[in-house]
Amino acid sequence: MSAGLNLAQLEAVNHLGGPCLVLAGAGSGKTRVITHKIGRLINAGLAADRIAAITFTNKAAAEMRERAKQLIGRDARKVLICTFHALGVKLLREDGASLGLKKNFSILDTDDITSILKDCGGTTDANTARAWQWTISGWKSGGLHSSQCLAQAKDDEERVAATIMARYEERLTAYQSVDFDDLISLPLKLLRDHAEVRERWQQKMGHVLVDEYQDTNATQYDLLKLLVGDRARLTAVGDDDQSIYGWRGATLDNLKKLPQDFPELKIIKLEQNYRSTSAILRAANAVIGLNPKLFPKTLWSDLGEGEPVRVVDADNEDHEADRAVARIQSLQAESQYKEWRHFAILYRANHMARPFEQSLRRAQIPYKVSGGQSFFDKAEIRDLCAWLRILVNNNDDPAFMRAATTPKRGIGHTTLQQLGNFATQYKLSLFEALFSHSLAAALPARAVATLHEFGRAVNDLEYRARHTVGHEDAKKFLDEWLKDIAYEQHLNDTEDNEKIAAARWANVIDFCDWVAGRCGGQIEDGAGVNTERERKTLLEVVQTIALISTLSEREKDEDVVTLSTLHASKGLEWPHVVLVGVNEGLLPFKLEEASMDLPAEAVAQRLEEERRLMYVGITRAQRTLAVSWLKRRKKGRESVPGIPSRFIKEMALDENTVKEDPREKLRALRAEFAQRASDQAAIKAAETP
Ligand code: ATP
Ligand code: MG
Repeated sequence: MSAGLNLAQLEAVNHLGGPCLVLAGAGSGKTRVITHKIGRLINAGLAADRIAAITFTNKAAAEMRERAKQLIGRDARKVLICTFHALGVKLLREDGASLGLKKNFSILDTDDITSILKDCGGTTDANTARAWQWTISGWKSGGLHSSQCLAQAKDDEERVAATIMARYEERLTAYQSVDFDDLISLPLKLLRDHAEVRERWQQKMGHVLVDEYQDTNATQYDLLKLLVGDRARLTAVGDDDQSIYGWRGATLDNLKKLPQDFPELKIIKLEQNYRSTSAILRAANAVIGLNPKLFPKTLWSDLGEGEPVRVVDADNEDHEADRAVARIQSLQAESQYKEWRHFAILYRANHMARPFEQSLRRAQIPYKVSGGQSFFDKAEIRDLCAWLRILVNNNDDPAFMRAATTPKRGIGHTTLQQLGNFATQYKLSLFEALFSHSLAAALPARAVATLHEFGRAVNDLEYRARHTVGHEDAKKFLDEWLKDIAYEQHLNDTEDNEKIAAARWANVIDFCDWVAGRCGGQIEDGAGVNTERERKTLLEVVQTIALISTLSEREKDEDVVTLSTLHASKGLEWPHVVLVGVNEGLLPFKLEEASMDLPAEAVAQRLEEERRLMYVGITRAQRTLAVSWLKRRKKGRESVPGIPSRFIKEMALDENTVKEDPREKLRALRAEFAQRASDQAAIKAAETP
């Protein structure tokens, strides 16, 4: 076995001439095949910049880059390792002109889209706008245009949404902006309709590798096919049993289509699991075995039998959290795994994190919530991004509104409204309207003067950003800019709590350092080593940052417990995993409700997807797994009796595979937490005057 690959993996890595699909269960080394194959392709003489590896999340891309660097060295940096969306951005930045898109287009975030939709639909209700957003996004990812949606609309509700979609499309064109769905559908249109562009990209792409292939949707598949062309230098790896994005349009049809569309496709199966103990693997196989089989698979492990999976019951959410944390503490004390990074708590939905955060804080255990509120969603970062976006694209109206009013600079609501009316009347962007000669006739002179002042500030910054190159200059630029707009003062003025204001300012500094770092030049890393990175202008860097939605991409591998949704845990692994909230109604999620208004077949499909989610959860664990359920759980404001998930019964083959947690231990724990709770109540009572 060469370089830590088994024979089947080697076969996949060495299959260079044509299309290859690795279809295998969890933990069988599919992702490892991708990283090793990048190295193999480079060794075989393919230039690194002709290789693209597509991952499912930014975080996965960052991890793969790191692994590739260890394996291949410097050349790894030239390989395009990114998500489908980032690939879309690259295609559009380089060739979007063929679609009439300017190079400096903006990428809208969810908030921008909600506010545009509110405007298009004449409503102030965010929920209504979000419902439209969901519908429109569904249509767009299916490749539909508003005119088609309008023609096909089944009822009034859809007709309204389609009409709003038409207005929304107009706005995006006017703002020179795209949304997340466009990042896939526009590149597809680009390659489909422009033969010259298509051929150039097909020539350029020497090999394309795709991880988590089972979760691609129809549009992504079409894009992929056009990108690789007839030569079909393609390696896809995936697991049909881990397809968990059906609700977002991912389709297993892509797995079935591959052998039809690429007749010379080599299909390779991997059967050895290198991640989990046999007990964990048996539980996983038992659960997933109940789903209808698309591709039969067997999975075994020689990591030993291991501990049975523990099933734990809890009185309520807080108790469940305390038990999970107590388990982590005792495992940390007793096992060889001493670092917090070896532990993860996984749950079905984001909002379930709260009690676990509280318990971990009480126990003074460091943790991170992955897939939670992202750095880039913080108000102060969104403020700065709005400014940067308008430098890149003057016609980005949502960014204009935010930048013009944060920090306050005397441009009031009425002025903006008047400017907006004027811009709509003359079909101009807000920025264009601001410099229009006829504006003076429509707005009071003082308002025009403050607007002009803002416009000049933007132009001036843009000019400087275009000529700012490298880390040092970028840092200086950003410092001066923050002083110019008095942003620190703004935080102090708007935030009463000094500590919070300081924390927000620290975020701002952190953000600026990060932006500057991306401008390249001589950069000192943490260890005091100077490295030379490719120099870029600040404006070029700003163009790319709208896409990075979480800071997690640059997070160092911190020594903390991970709290994560099951969806966000895909592809990852931890020695010790606690799966929580495994109740009917939570996992599977709201199946009874669905069965009331969906046909039986749709309900069955929902159940299968939930079961795959459970499979993903179980197979994240390397050494031990605990699964806990709630005897009473919160439903809205009420507390209702909880029923253990059917998936718990499904994995309980025998005592060696699954065991209830010992009763005595349970009782002892309960007593301990009851004591702690009463202590806390006593402290609180003592503190209350
Ligand atoms: P998932 O379906 O969850 O994405 P995967 O199939 O991508 O899993 P990997 O993450 O690539 O699996 O591998 C699982 C673990 O097994 C990793 O820790 C990896 O380093 C290890 N591994 C994979 N192949 C081998 C091998 N041939 N020898 C030793 N360890 C291996
Ligand atoms: Mg993987």
